[in-house]
Amino acid sequence: MHISDIIKPEEPTFSFEFFPPKSPEASHALYETIKDLSECKPSFVSVTYGAGGTTRDLTHDLVLKIKETTDTPPVPHLTCVSHTKEEITSTLARYASVNIGNILALRGDPPANNSSYDRSQDAFQQAVDLVRHIKSFNESGNHPDSRGFGIGVAAFPEGHPDTPNRLLEMDYLKAKVDEGADYICTQLFFDNHDFFDFRDRCQLAGINIPIIAGIMPITSAKGIHRMAELAAGAHFPARLLKALKRAGNDKESVQQVGIQHAAEQCAGLLDQGVAGIHFYTLNQSRATREVYSLLGMR
Ligand SMILES: Cc1cc2nc3c(=O)[nH]c(=O)nc-3n(C[C@H](O)[C@H](O)[C@H](O)COP(=O)(O)OP(=O)(O)OC[C@H]3O[C@@H](n4cnc5c(N)ncnc54)[C@H](O)[C@@H]3O)c2cc1C
Repeated sequence: MHISDIIKPEEPTFSFEFFPPKSPEASHALYETIKDLSECKPSFVSVTYGAGGTTRDLTHDLVLKIKETTDTPPVPHLTCVSHTKEEITSTLARYASVNIGNILALRGDPPANNSSYDRSQDAFQQAVDLVRHIKSFNESGNHPDSRGFGIGVAAFPEGHPDTPNRLLEMDYLKAKVDEGADYICTQLFFDNHDFFDFRDRCQLAGINIPIIAGIMPITSAKGIHRMAELAAGAHFPARLLKALKRAGNDKESVQQVGIQHAAEQCAGLLDQGVAGIHFYTLNQSRATREVYSLLGMR
């Protein structure tokens, strides 16, 4: 099943993102989270791919485990960083052999611990090249679904830091769609105006595939700085910052502010007909479950 088959007008999808755990304890905690969140009946879940292919097997194993033990379709992320064309093809073949239906095709960021990384050595320089390659894999007939993989791509409502020219950036996004992407998942954002403006700009550019909104509830004061780094350029509205300031160092209050803000964002997105909401869960269930509850979806 392709994600684009799941997304229906007037029926937004709800999906969750996990990262592969690196220790047996973290694995155990993640399976508890997955079990907990499966009660929310997600439309799909996605599994990240560590910078530079560092989690290639871990991503694969988690995707497989989710496929085997839940009813929720898992979507592996795949990046171009440090990979040859043959490595990417073999990863696709592994996923096709177990009937994984979709891939989120990304460029990836340079690995943090490898200063000698040279992007020019990667077989695929941009996500668009990976999308094109997945499309040609699809045409080879090596997938149990005759259409091959459904293909998701990333987009950045507030702009990607590498491309300050926003018109050019939209051309690059359109190129990914023209090469065969069938849905978009956005970077996290805290102000819905940024998402709605982005969605309008996509429409003006002739991008008509579903756009799923990325939401990350703030769960700790420390986490905000990490989020600001991860989502470089993210706009933190003053209203949110004021609420966080009121919460001060009280962990529970900070989490309540984050959950309340995320729930308000989700309600606004649903009111305006968003195609789907993707929660960056950080492998924890509480914030997502509470947002669900505030939306009346318990
Ligand atoms: C939903 C989501 C999930 C993610 N998951 C992961 C993950 O699992 N693992 C991971 O490592 N990273 C992940 N990332 C981060 C992502 O890999 C980085 O943000 C990366 O820098 C951009 O990826 P992209 O796929 O959008 O790349 P691209 O589409 O290739 O864009 C990257 C930059 O290049 C520019 N560009 C595009 N085409 C061209 C061109 N032809 N010429 C010049 N410039 C061009 C774009 O405007 C942009 O600035 C994720 C991001 C999102 C939003």
